[in-house]
Parts: sequence; C-alpha cells; structure tokens
Amino acid sequence: MKDLDVIVAGGGIGGLSLALSLHQAGIAVRVYEAVRAPAPLGVGINLQPTAVRELTELGLGGALAEIGIATRQLNLCNKFGQLIHGQSRGLAAGYRWPQYSVHRGELQLLLLRAVRERISEENVQCGLSLTRFEQDGNRVKVRFINRQSGSEKLDEADILVGADGIHSAVRHQLYPAEGAPRFAQHVLWRAAVEAEPFLDGRTMVIAGHLHQRAVVYPIGERRGGKLLINWVCSKTVPDRSAPREDWNRRVTKEEVLATFGDWRFSWLDLPALIEQSSDIYEFPLVDRDPVAAWSFGRATLLGDAAHPMQPIGSQAGSQAILDARALTRALVETDDAVAALERYDAERRPAMNDIIMRNRNFGPEVAMQLAEDRAPNGFSRIEDVIPRYELDAIAASFAKAAGLDVQTVNHRPSYVSP
Ligand SMILES: Cc1cc2nc3c(=O)[nH]c(=O)nc-3n(C[C@H](O)[C@H](O)[C@H](O)COP(=O)(O)OP(=O)(O)OC[C@H]3O[C@@H](n4cnc5c(N)ncnc54)[C@H](O)[C@@H]3O)c2cc1C
Repeated sequence: MKDLDVIVAGGGIGGLSLALSLHQAGIAVRVYEAVRAPAPLGVGINLQPTAVRELTELGLGGALAEIGIATRQLNLCNKFGQLIHGQSRGLAAGYRWPQYSVHRGELQLLLLRAVRERISEENVQCGLSLTRFEQDGNRVKVRFINRQSGSEKLDEADILVGADGIHSAVRHQLYPAEGAPRFAQHVLWRAAVEAEPFLDGRTMVIAGHLHQRAVVYPIGERRGGKLLINWVCSKTVPDRSAPREDWNRRVTKEEVLATFGDWRFSWLDLPALIEQSSDIYEFPLVDRDPVAAWSFGRATLLGDAAHPMQPIGSQAGSQAILDARALTRALVETDDAVAALERYDAERRPAMNDIIMRNRNFGPEVAMQLAEDRAPNGFSRIEDVIPRYELDAIAASFAKAAGLDVQTVNHRPSYVSP
C-alpha cells in the first residue's frame, strides 16, 4: 500500500480506468464526474488488444467479451467499396488479446460499476465539476461545483489528474490561452443501429478517402441474429465554421443521405443503414495542438484532456487506458509523487504528440487517399495502384508509432502486477 491519495477529475474511460488501476496498486483514489447520472452515451469505440490486455489484467476480460464484438478484420476500401487493404485484427493477427468493438456508453458504465464496487460509492462523486485547483509543495486543493444546486465542494490530495476530456478544465487552467479545439473542416455523422450482419459479422470497414469516408463496424450482438452496427460518415466542409461540439447534437437522415445516398456496395447497403437509424448525431472533427507538458508539480492530464486527437486509427479510448496504466506504474515505482508525474509525462507525451500530428495526415488511412489520387474511377487490381509492400509499410509504421504492434503488445511487461 503506497501512502498517497489521488483525485481524478472526470469519470470517462480514462478516469475510470485510472481509478481501477490505482486501486489495484493499493493507492487511494476519489473520482469526481461532472455528469450527475452517467448514461450510456456515444456510439462505437474500439479497444485495441493493448487496452484489452490492460482491462483483462484489471479483471474485466470476461465482462468485455460479453458486451463487445471481437473484431477479426479491418478492410480499407475505396468509395466504390473495392478492397484496398485487408488487415487481420486482434487474435486473428497474432495478438494474445482480442480487439473489441464496443458501445462507448456500455463500456463506460461497465467501468463505472467496477469502480463503485471496488473503491466504494462514496469515493465516486457524480454531479461535481472541477472548477479550479491550487497546489503547494505538499498537496493539491481542488474546488468543485454542483452545477444544478450551485453548491461548492473542496477536496485535497497528493495528486490531481485531469481526465476531464477535450474541454478539460484542468488543462484550461494550465494553458489558459489555448482557446477552442481546432476544427479540421470535417463533420462526422454517427449512429448505432440494429441490422443484419455484413461480411462475416466481425469485420470493420473504412471506405472512401480524405474528403468523404464511412466507417462501419458491429459493436454488439442483438436478438434474432442481428447486430448493433455503428456507422460514422464524414465529409469535408471547407467553408463552414465548426458546429457546436456536443456528442448529443442530432441531424436528420436526409442530411447524411444527401452525401452518402449512393454508397451501395455489393456487401453493404450504407444508405439502408442510414435509413434505419433513428438517432443520428453530428460532431465536428476536432483536436488540439500538442502541448509541451502534461505534468505541473502535483497535477497532470490524461486521455483526451492530455492528447485530444482526431478519431483516426481507432485508438483514442485505448490510449487513455494506456495512460492510466503508465501513470499508475510511475506512481508505484517512483518514491516522489512529483517525479512520478514527470516520468509519466516523459514516457507517454512524445508518442501521443506524434500521433496527434499523424492523425492530421490521415494516419494509417492514408492508403485510401492514395487509392483515390491514383485511381479515382476505381481499379481492377489494387496491386496496379499501390503495391502490397507500400500498404503494409503504412499500416506497420502507424502501429509501431502508436505502440499497437503485435510484438510490443505481446511481449512488453505488465504495467501493474495483477
Ligand atoms: C458523451 C461522450 C460520447 C462520446 N462518444 C464517442 C463515440 O461515440 N465514439 C468515440 O470514438 N469516442 C467518443 N467519445 C470520446 C471518447 O470517449 C474519448 O475519446 C476516449 O474514450 C478518451 O476518454 P477520456 O476519458 O479521456 O475522455 P471522455 O470520454 O471525454 O471523458 C471525460 C469525462 O470527464 C467529464 N468531465 C468533463 N469536464 C469535467 C469537469 N470539469 N469535472 C469533472 N468531470 C468532467 C465528462 O463528463 C466525461 O465523463 C465520447 C465522449 C463523450 C464525453
């Protein structure tokens, strides 16, 4: 048992994974979440094998298998649905852990239940938003507000972790001049809908190119052989200012069909999926510039608060979980709390800053833009357009940079001894 206590601001995937990790390592933790009654919000999210490994080592492997789909294959296609690059995923690719595609909200609630059971109800306070913090050489004092009643609460701990998402109040205090997230001139439309399986029912598909693309994958089993299928359609909107960033802002299916109404492939009828969807949400494609430090004395950042990135490479949630594990290890293995936060920063920030920039250039999905540039009317043989070695090199380079490659994931030591 380490004589430390930690306040985590934010009960999303990153903050909750951190609470579970700290508890596993014998470190006292309290979580404050702004939302009063967290509901299963969001649509699909992917957990890469590296994150599944961490959640498995936290004792959640069985629960994950129950809510998720073990993804076997990722197909990158052009806008006509022609296969550019098929890649095995998860166990099929040789990882010792599966890749799961899950409903983000179900994952968050699964983690929240586990946190409440393990660190007790009173250490998870919902409906309290961090507003400010102050630190001296020994402690961090943190101020929260209940936005409904207006009442304030003060707490203090050895360490504060801002896991409070892309609009992080902790980051804002550390970088007051930063301003709003950076709009990448794309809007995303997303939904989850019960439908018949496509392909083998375990395949994730990304079709199109930089200016117009669709991401489609199943995220859960449903009755009668149906699957819950997540879809995200995005397009460039060069002349538009950013729509408000609200995960719950709805749009009509007509708006999406105006752009994707003819994306009917022999193996997937995307317009039919859009037609069947009752709740479609719009979100701007945003990120933030990398920062020069996450850790300032006894306060640090984690997950989207630390490295808000464009959703390329299906890894934002996974990286937040990795942050949680790396931070826990640093706290366990370093005597001094401030030095531990510096170690975590040095270990995670350079790679995450690199990924933020790679994602702006389309990350591993750059192969789709190459196919569009070289064969805008489609192709007979992809080998005539992009040689296989080039496709493999693109995928391998990104996986390595993001720490997602098979060798690293299978052979690295555990972050925290289970
Ligand atoms: C409602 C919602 C829906 C999402 N839907 C998707 C999706 O469908 N697909 C996808 O790929 N990604 C989605 N994301 C983003 C995805 O969850 C993150 O990219 C990733 O999981 C990293 O998680 P995080 O814990 O760092 O941040 P987040 O998941 O954003 O969690 C941050 C948490 O902090 C809380 N919070 C914010 N401000 C404060 C404060 N001042 N004090 C205390 N708590 C605070 C928020 O309520 C939230 O619960 C969604 C995020 C949210 C918040």
